[in-house]
Amino acid sequence: MKHTPFWVEEHPRPENITSDLPGEADVLIVGSGLTGLTAALRLARGGKSVVVVDSGEIASGASSVNGGMVSPDIKAGIKVIFEQFGQELGREMWQATVRSVDIVSDLAATESIDAKIMRGGMAALGIGPDAQARFEQSVSWYREQVGVDWEVLGPGRVGEVIGHGPFTTAIFEPEGFGIQPARFVFGLASSAAAAGARLVSHCEATSFEKDGPGFLVLTTEGPVRVGEIVLATNGYTTDRPSAELARRIVPVGSYIVVTEPIADRATAIFPGGAMTYTKKRLLNYMRRTPDGRILIGGRRNLHTGLDLGESAAALRGQLIGYFPQLEDVPLTHVWGGKLAVPFDLVPHMGQVDGAWYALGYAGHGVGLSTLMGHELAGMLLGEEPPSVFTKVPHPTRFYYRGNPWFLTPASILYRTLDRLNR
Ligand SMILES: Cc1cc2nc3c(=O)[nH]c(=O)nc-3n(C[C@H](O)[C@H](O)[C@H](O)COP(=O)(O)OP(=O)(O)OC[C@H]3O[C@@H](n4cnc5c(N)ncnc54)[C@H](O)[C@@H]3O)c2cc1C
Repeated sequence: MKHTPFWVEEHPRPENITSDLPGEADVLIVGSGLTGLTAALRLARGGKSVVVVDSGEIASGASSVNGGMVSPDIKAGIKVIFEQFGQELGREMWQATVRSVDIVSDLAATESIDAKIMRGGMAALGIGPDAQARFEQSVSWYREQVGVDWEVLGPGRVGEVIGHGPFTTAIFEPEGFGIQPARFVFGLASSAAAAGARLVSHCEATSFEKDGPGFLVLTTEGPVRVGEIVLATNGYTTDRPSAELARRIVPVGSYIVVTEPIADRATAIFPGGAMTYTKKRLLNYMRRTPDGRILIGGRRNLHTGLDLGESAAALRGQLIGYFPQLEDVPLTHVWGGKLAVPFDLVPHMGQVDGAWYALGYAGHGVGLSTLMGHELAGMLLGEEPPSVFTKVPHPTRFYYRGNPWFLTPASILYRTLDRLNR
């Protein structure tokens, strides 16, 4: 089994998109995933000189290796925003999450990116009558408050989204879809480079300080004088260049395996091509790939950097647990990446020490990172009002200095609650 992302093997990173580090720029973006690249694309087209630095290869964070599942809403559930901040802000944020779905397919179309979009909807999967009752209650809230046309599929219809396995109920969201994430983000990298953004790989931003009206940013490749800084580091955020930002998110690992292509058998399990996930704390997400593999993702526990062989064995156990008929099917690839989980499970845009940032998508970031990078660039260009994601306070905890010592107890607690179905 290869310990590399299948998506990047299927569609390798484009060549000739990187540049050397310039000495100055209007905007320096730290992080070359979807957040950083959509911001860079809009800023460059808006006439700004832009440099994007990444400590690894271009788009080698979560954006090229994720499950490729796109759907509205935030990890916390938009109901939380209604309850804490009122209907008006709740509706505004909901509308932003709807735009975050559209912007992915719109950008793929306008930038001529063949992202292998699979329009089969998104389905949350559950087991038993309790899950169905919970799903009905949740969906009726969403229908009333934000007007979705989601359906709860009971035992008679769940086979429309998941053809086998123990699942007896599903929430079906027809607007959800899947992409090949490496194709999408590498396409955006090519567009940003073609628009004039300078993409600098293997260049870590280590610190920054105020310098006249702008900033002096120190990187491992040298200093850069810039007008504005955008931190787009999500799950790869460390205390370099901002210890304050590192206190506001918890990096969490997520791991994926794919089987070899099993065309008809994969279609029998995902007949309509839906993106699916189990509604649990330590959840699994599962889909069919465009070339007829089955992809399953999740985690044994919340830590980043887990052993890939052990993660593959655990994911295989979960896959066979759901679909015993796949016992004979070999896995071909395993890989992992990092999510950014904020304490309130709400994405945030804001400023630390004068630098802008957008992050905290908590595993729900394909659409939201694309939207928030684009919106942040629009704000810097004076073309957009403040994003709704600037309007919710971004909490940290007094005991958190960027070292998530609590992940082991949290993993045990979540596993127990999942087992008890709570
Ligand atoms: C395994 C996995 C599966 C996922 N599945 C889904 C899914 O199906 N649907 C969904 O909506 N979301 C999913 N997500 C989440 C989604 O991929 C992310 O929310 C999104 O890609 C974040 O994009 P980003 O640009 O903000 O960050 P990233 O793409 O993670 O990029 C951050 C970049 O910052 C760079 N960096 C960090 N610090 C520095 C520094 N000091 N200097 C220079 N560079 C730096 C890193 O090298 C990295 O390249 C998944 C994530 C993972 C890991």
